[in-house]
Amino acid sequence: MTRIAVYPGSFDPITNGHLSIIRRGLQVFDRLIVAVAHNAQKASALFTAEDRIRLIREAINDDPRVEIDTFDGLLVDYARKRNATVVLRGLRAVSDFEYEFQLANMNRKLAPNIDTLFMMTGEDSFYISSRFVREAASLGGDVSSMVPPNVLKALYEKYADQRAARTASLK
Ligand code: ADP
Repeated sequence: MTRIAVYPGSFDPITNGHLSIIRRGLQVFDRLIVAVAHNAQKASALFTAEDRIRLIREAINDDPRVEIDTFDGLLVDYARKRNATVVLRGLRAVSDFEYEFQLANMNRKLAPNIDTLFMMTGEDSFYISSRFVREAASLGGDVSSMVPPNVLKALYEKYADQRAARTASLK
């Protein structure tokens, strides 16, 4: 039987923390579906869903065991539709636990046949979050140890564009 897990998130953008979960997830599952949350495309999103998918695809080097998709609506409905019985999530700190615990229990109530599997963050990535990467990069911080090279480049371009737009509007 092919073991398929869905790894959902906003991935705005993908970080080395996410990549560590994907790499280690592939030691447990035959296939991973990295599911980019579309409804997370709120005003605060930095990259469009299309850009986030492209950045993930480049970062995983087109590994045939990994599929990248978007979803909206209920995660468990999506997992069911994709014949996945496991939702993979990463845990960084105690602060993640509360939220993840509630989400996993909610999902279990909604779909008892789908289980959530947690993987501990990699030892070098426990402090990495997309949000802090975005914030640090927007202020010119060096995030090169936290994201793959293609994401670093995309962040640099994005913030260079924003800086140029701000400068233009000041003129
Ligand atoms: P973020 O919280 O960074 O915006 P996402 O919503 O994209 O991340 O998260 C998708 C999943 O990846 C969640 O389960 C989250 O806990 C996990 N994750 C994010 N960053 C890391 C990390 N550095 N180490 C382990 N898991 C992580």
